[in-house]
Amino acid sequence: FAMLEREDPEIASVLLDEVARQRDTLQLIASESFTSPAVLAALGSTLANKYAEGYPGQRYYGGCAHVDRAEALAVERAKDLFAAPHVNVQPHSGACANLAAYAALAEPGDVVLAMGLPHGGHLTHGSRANFSGKWFHPIAYRLAPETELIDYDEVRDLALAHRPKLIICGATSYPRLIDFALFREIADEVGAYLMVDAAHFIGLVAGRAVPSPVPYADVVTGTTHKALRGPRGGMIICRPELAQRIDKAVFPFAQGGPMMHAIAAKAVAFREAGTPEFRGYANQTVRNARALTDGLTAEGLRPVTGGTDNHLAVLDLREAGVTGRDAEARCARAGIALNKNPVPYDPERPAVASGVRVGTPSVTSQGMREGEMRRIAGLIGRVVRDGLETTAGEAVIREVAAEVSEIVGGFPPYPLGTE
Ligand code: PLP
Repeated sequence: FAMLEREDPEIASVLLDEVARQRDTLQLIASESFTSPAVLAALGSTLANKYAEGYPGQRYYGGCAHVDRAEALAVERAKDLFAAPHVNVQPHSGACANLAAYAALAEPGDVVLAMGLPHGGHLTHGSRANFSGKWFHPIAYRLAPETELIDYDEVRDLALAHRPKLIICGATSYPRLIDFALFREIADEVGAYLMVDAAHFIGLVAGRAVPSPVPYADVVTGTTHKALRGPRGGMIICRPELAQRIDKAVFPFAQGGPMMHAIAAKAVAFREAGTPEFRGYANQTVRNARALTDGLTAEGLRPVTGGTDNHLAVLDLREAGVTGRDAEARCARAGIALNKNPVPYDPERPAVASGVRVGTPSVTSQGMREGEMRRIAGLIGRVVRDGLETTAGEAVIREVAAEVSEIVGGFPPYPLGTE
């Protein structure tokens, strides 16, 4: 770092400011966590210099002997961790993994049945702004209005009516477990492939805190940088019969040279995720989400579906009379990072939204437990309700910010000097 400071003080100061932000404020973004120093070390290595188009043992470049070992280790560790027959660790991101999965399983124009974006689906599940909605024919299923759970009857009806080539389950903001066996049954009924986009919860699967989709899906896509606590990146697990199609869809169809530094960092993360400590982390993440959600419910903020089974909750703020956008801004001023999020059948536009999403992977990796979650819930309730742009509101924000500082001060994400 001293060298970076000498060579490029502007970027060095960005790094320092971001370290301070992550350390000194509360991170409740559901799709983030803290990687280990070992993962960061692999990411910041000279493996970043190496071109290695192709796969281990079959590269289009020389000098790949060492990076081949990194990729082989990443693949073997991921296969062990997820009891997976085949894994591709090259996708640059979750969206790249999804692009490759579509390319392997469907043709442009084919019908794809996935959760609608306003109900918790991802952009790559059929948004018109994304390849998935531009090149494929998306049909969206929704959450049932009364329960806010996936309406499996509607999924089956839509599948029978539209005969999709591909059915996708998995979401960005669904706080409950997904019935993979039922999705499999529906996919089999209509002869569709089943893809589980496990981006959000693949870390919890690794830590045995939620059920695995691997036995049910034809393809499972995931991100390595959320609750899995690896580098930013994607991965794909598939049945052996689909292995060649998936590999060709990642390279050369969707990507060029793999990021070998990221792949080495993925290998480190997969090893860490196989330890008893990581299982403890994943299970505590879920317990913390439950404690946070219970605390927020007691503050009068209604959790969509009434609670959570995983690492996140979506809070409907309509009864509190605050929009998601305002709640996000108030929390940000008090040092609490979370994001606005639509609630099912949201009357507001997405840029405003009626809810916020909170998640516990980051705070759990810092070592916080249920007691801290209850305290944080009280702070969020207070700042969302009373953090107005008035003199009294500013005082509330200052008080909450001081308490946030005190809490995070007790749980540094990295030992001093290792970040
Ligand atoms: N799929 C789901 C369900 C996600 O939530 C996300 C990201 O939040 C992605 C895919 C895309 O991942 P990335 O941002 O790495 O492209």
